[in-house]
This record gives sequence, C-alpha cells and structure tokens, in this order.
Amino acid sequence: MKISIIGAGVSGLSIGCYLQMNGFETEIFEKHSHAGGLCTSWKRGEFTFDGCIHWLMGSNSSSPFYRLWSELVDMKSVEFFNHEVRFEIELEVNRDRHGDRVFHLYNNINRLEAYLLDLAPEDTGLIKDLIRSIRVMQRFELPPMIENAPVMQSWRKRLAMASYLPFVILYLKWRNVTNFSFARKLKNPFLKEAFELLFDGEEFKMLILTMPLSIFDRNGAGYPIGGSYRFANRIAERYKALGGKIHYDQPVKRILTGGNRAQGVLLQNDSIVYSDITISATDWYFTMFEALEGRFLNNSILALASQRTLKLYPSVFLISLGVSRSFSEYPHLIRFPLNAAVASPDGTVYTRIESHIYHYDPTLAPEGKTIIVLSLYTRNGDFWINLRNKDMAEYNRCKTEFAEKIIDRLNEKIEGVKASVEITDVATPATYHRYTGSWKGSVQGWFPDRNLLASSPVGIGLAGLSDFYYSSQWSVPGGGLPVVIKAGRDLSRFISMKYKKQFIIK
Ligand SMILES: Cc1cc2nc3c(=O)[nH]c(=O)nc-3n(C[C@H](O)[C@H](O)[C@H](O)COP(=O)(O)OP(=O)(O)OC[C@H]3O[C@@H](n4cnc5c(N)ncnc54)[C@H](O)[C@@H]3O)c2cc1C
Repeated sequence: MKISIIGAGVSGLSIGCYLQMNGFETEIFEKHSHAGGLCTSWKRGEFTFDGCIHWLMGSNSSSPFYRLWSELVDMKSVEFFNHEVRFEIELEVNRDRHGDRVFHLYNNINRLEAYLLDLAPEDTGLIKDLIRSIRVMQRFELPPMIENAPVMQSWRKRLAMASYLPFVILYLKWRNVTNFSFARKLKNPFLKEAFELLFDGEEFKMLILTMPLSIFDRNGAGYPIGGSYRFANRIAERYKALGGKIHYDQPVKRILTGGNRAQGVLLQNDSIVYSDITISATDWYFTMFEALEGRFLNNSILALASQRTLKLYPSVFLISLGVSRSFSEYPHLIRFPLNAAVASPDGTVYTRIESHIYHYDPTLAPEGKTIIVLSLYTRNGDFWINLRNKDMAEYNRCKTEFAEKIIDRLNEKIEGVKASVEITDVATPATYHRYTGSWKGSVQGWFPDRNLLASSPVGIGLAGLSDFYYSSQWSVPGGGLPVVIKAGRDLSRFISMKYKKQFIIK
C-alpha cells in the first residue's frame, strides 16, 4: 500500500518510520532542502546557530518518551546535557535575603525546595505543597499509557486509567492555579516577584512549570549536544534506513481528491503523485485552506481559524550571535529587565528579554567562542510576514534596526558582548513561516492556556474525505517534539490496525 506524506518535520519523519516498520510503502514530499522542519540549526561561517531544542522530554529513561525516541533513534549514542538550573530570572524590584537579585529555578527538586525554604521560611506551607505535588507527579507515567492510542479505547485501558486517580485529583487541584494566583498567596516579596515573572510577566498555569519539573529533576529533559538539526537528522536517517524516500525541494500544492477520497498530491512543479493514503504532517492552515482548498471545513476548523477555541503559540524574533568569547561565567539562560522598554516594529513592547548562551555545547562554535541567542516572543507574526511580502527592503531595514537596538541592550547587561560579535543572524516570524509554513510563524502550534488537556479540533481525519489523515504539532495543544512523536505513532498505529496489521516496532 502506497502512502504519500507531506512534510519532513519530526511529525512526518516519525509517521514515515512507524509506517515503514509496519510494511507500508511511504514517501515524503518536503518543500525545503533538508529535513527537520522547526527542529533545526543552521551554519553561518564557523558557527552553528540553533533554533529549537532547549530541552527534549524523554532524554533518559525516567520519562516514558524515552521509549518512543528509542524506537526511532539510538538514544544511547546521543549525548545530552542536563543543566543544574533550568533558567534564571533577574528581578526588577526585590532582592533575596542574601542581597541577590536573581532567582534560580533549580532542576533538582530537593535543591529547589531547600533554596525556596531558605529564601522564604514564612512561605513553608505553600512551598512544601508545591514540592510535594511535583513528587506525586513523578509517580505517574506522563502521558499515561503510551502504548494505547487514544483512538483505541478498551476496558483494559479504562481500568488502567483508574490507577491515575491520585494524579487526576492533583490535576484538579492545580489546574486553575496560575503563577499569578500562586504569587498572590506568597508572603515573601522576592518569591512573589519571581513567580510573577516566571513567564516574563505573563500568566500561565502552574502545571506548565510543575509537570516538566517532575521530569527535569530526574535529568529526563536534556539538550542534545550538537543541536536540533543533528537530532532531527537522526530520525531522517532512520527513515531512509527503513526504506522510506524523502523528496526534497518538492513543495506540495494540492491534495488530490476525487469521489470524496484523497488520491495523492499535486506538486508545485505540477507533477502528480497518486497514492492509496495521503497524510499531511504539515501546517494545519495550509492543509485545510490551501492544499484542500477549504472544501472540507467544519465549524470547529472555522473556530480555530479565528482563534476562538484555542489561541496560537507565539512566534519569535530570534537574534543569533556568533561571539569571540565563551562567556562561560554567565548563566546559560537568563531573563532580565531592560533599562528602558524597547518597542518592536510589530507593536510588541519588550521590557525584558531572554538570553541563551550555549557555552555548554562546544560543537556549535570554535574553541573559546560560543553562540548567544536572544528570543523575543511576539503574537504579531503577521506583521513580519506581510511586510516581507510587501516590501523586502523595508523588511530588512526594520529587522536589522530592531536587532541592533536589542544587541545594544544586551551590551548593557553583558559587558563587551557587542564588541565580541563576529556574526549576527536574525530570524523573524516571516522566516519561520517561509521555511516551514507554520501558521503566523507559530513556534509550537496551539497554546494550551485555557485547558491544558484540551484536545485539538484538528483531528486525524476529515468527515467526507476518506484515505486522508493529519498529524503534526497542531494535533495536540502545546505542540513540541514529544507531542509530535506520540501523535505520529498513534496515527501510524491506527492506520496499521485499520488495515488489519498488528502494530510492530522494528
Ligand atoms: C525557537 C523554537 C524553540 C523550540 N523549543 C522546543 C523545545 O525546547 N522542546 C520541544 O520539544 N519543542 C520545541 N520547539 C517546538 C518543536 O520544534 C515543534 O513543535 C516541532 O518540531 C513541530 O514538528 P512538526 O513536524 O509537527 O512541524 P514542522 O516542524 O513545522 O514540520 C512541517 C514540515 O512540513 C514542511 N512543509 C510545509 N509546507 C509544505 C508543503 N507545501 N509541501 C511540502 N512540505 C511542506 C516544512 O518545510 C516542514 O519540514 C521549538 C520550536 C521553536 C521554533
């Protein structure tokens, strides 16, 4: 049975691997010149800039995702770096009782607990409750029962779910607690400000912090040395070793449909490839509105397009610097306040920025040098996308000027950094959109704010269209690499079972 897959991001590659293992003949059509999609790095002179993985959930066996990654990649051969501190936050107003302005979010839970209790003995009850909850989370495999795709309910699965009751109780207790509401209860001014600033002044569910912390504590969410592209390329190599074919520089224009079944793809160069099953593992908006020409829309899809049901994960204005020093005396990831606010041409006003120094990965720069990446998140990706389409010269002027302003601000924080810059590379939401098609340049699909466990209305199939399937970061709110491998595996399992094949892993 012949299957066409659109997109060689980690979704398309994972689906391809699992289907090849199960006897399907697949080929992937990728618009770019290489695989990985958003999970990428790029070379500039002697520097490799990384544009993705800060942490990969499942980097060791303490996380159930390790089993999934190991099905596709020889995980023992990947070297992961685990940070002691996940990130640091420089506060604006308060200092801790030792005079320090910086809050350290330790990955080790015992260390984090001791640190918090030392800073704020008056908040012992709240701190202990928080830490206890993280420890309870560690007793559960999250997400539960990876072996059973959600599309295949069984009485056994429901019975097993009952063992998750303590986790469900914990979830219900924490589901509405945000960093702001938690901060309001804290008495210590330093901790109060630190929790308010956890997400750069935005309000998020505390579960976004605590669930990953339960995995970070066990070194289960490390950074793969060598960067994101090297990691994604391992999956591409595995796919090819399993007999899969990737056609690079082959953008898909349309999904062919006839008699209400998907028949294959029409490529940008107007050649047609017929197949028994067509899978889109690329952007949801492109798939629904362009590749399928809006012919299979329903109310849920229309509600998504207007962001009524789910909001979009922001895009990012990414400034990458190749610098002639290692800056190893500085923390790897710190969010700090700017001396004066800076307005982006897209209207976002930044009072704080995030600087990521990769001194822990020697493969990205020559000895004694490193790369620094500044991430400025924006919800107005369309500004950059439209400007680039309309006026290339103005787009280049705007992005360069804005990047220079930010580098000046960084120089106020890290002395001498500007003089050490050898190469600057700026990616805007338009860059993400151009290279991967990601809607409005979003970096992770849907944002899981209102309901952390919400399911995405972008389902695996479409009513009225047979032999078509969909799976990508847009399939589960929150996106990210663990989500895409799990969604891709679930879909492959569903297809295997539909065609009466026992799902196997080779
Ligand atoms: C700055 C940044 C930091 C991140 N950090 C992390 C992190 O620390 N941990 C984590 O887990 N995740 C992280 N993510 C998110 C993660 O990278 C994504 O969720 C994931 O890579 C999405 O994979 P995907 O295959 O679903 O989509 P994509 O990567 O978007 O893949 C889609 C593929 O389809 C191709 N395509 C598009 N249109 C067409 C067409 N018409 N024809 C053919 N091919 C087409 C694209 O070129 C692309 O290769 C980060 C992302 C970014 C950008």
